[in-house]
Amino acid sequence: MISAYYHPGFAVDLGRHIMPIRKFQQVAEVVQNWDFVRIDAPVCLEESDILRVHDPVYVRAVKSGQPKDLAESQKFPWSPGLYTSVCWTNGGVYSAALQALHTGVAASLSSGFHHAHSSRGEGFCTFNGLVIAVDKLRMENRLRTAAVLDMDLHYGNGTALLCQSRPYLTQLSIYGNDYWDNTPYRNVSVLRHQDGENHFSAPLPSGCDRITLIRIMKEHLPRLLCRTKPDLLIYQAGADPLWMDPYSPLALTHEDLLERDRIVFEFARRHQIPVAWVLAGGYTPDLSQVVRVHTNTFLAAIDVFPELRQQDRVDYLNPD
Ligand SMILES: [Zn+2]
Repeated sequence: MISAYYHPGFAVDLGRHIMPIRKFQQVAEVVQNWDFVRIDAPVCLEESDILRVHDPVYVRAVKSGQPKDLAESQKFPWSPGLYTSVCWTNGGVYSAALQALHTGVAASLSSGFHHAHSSRGEGFCTFNGLVIAVDKLRMENRLRTAAVLDMDLHYGNGTALLCQSRPYLTQLSIYGNDYWDNTPYRNVSVLRHQDGENHFSAPLPSGCDRITLIRIMKEHLPRLLCRTKPDLLIYQAGADPLWMDPYSPLALTHEDLLERDRIVFEFARRHQIPVAWVLAGGYTPDLSQVVRVHTNTFLAAIDVFPELRQQDRVDYLNPD
């Protein structure tokens, strides 16, 4: 079985908002019918978990709503339920990461929130659940190093910044929209983000198809191993690279993104790295298209780890 972490508390009422907050529930409703998926409840994070990564002034603002511009810096209208909902969603990332260390593979039906900075939110990301999960697992002596493979359409700028003070964390962001002006037609392959020693970027050209995507992935994925083999891989599986997404300049179909997911899981399997994945962005107005990308990731996972139909652990974590 593959554990998928979900809690109704993931969704706070945002009113009319481009962020399709209902998708978490809809993905859960689909995969709970599949015999190789088990829906589990995540832990709800404590404030001390968030304070390992985020500035206390900012955390207080998200809790209290004051000052308003800081509390809403991620571009959500503040409400009293916001803080608790992000403790649940970030808790989902942590629970999936912890489970992956035990079983080899797990998912959180929440986002990873890769645009969140230490002292403010950005791009619908309040707290950076990816880094919070890694820092909590390190504090608990459950891992030493980790890597984030970010395949959301948008460049993972928040995680890249947080990497700078975390030599134990490596990030690779393979992106098709640099997020600076968030326009779908801009060809980001002519631009380069400033890579650091432990955070790397690989832009996808406008019109990127499956052949180009696979070539770029095969070229860059080894960078996740360039310093040391990580104890854990967290995969930001974005639905927004889909060709019909309003922000996407790419030509990637559902089948192409399924192949992308397969390549990621094959990479994790080949190098025997536990992998947890999260549902990153997706803004196609027909929400069923977003849900299809995310549920396809489960199909890719069971393709690559077929033993999880019969057992709870991948073979290389269970030698007998
Ligand atoms: Zn995105």
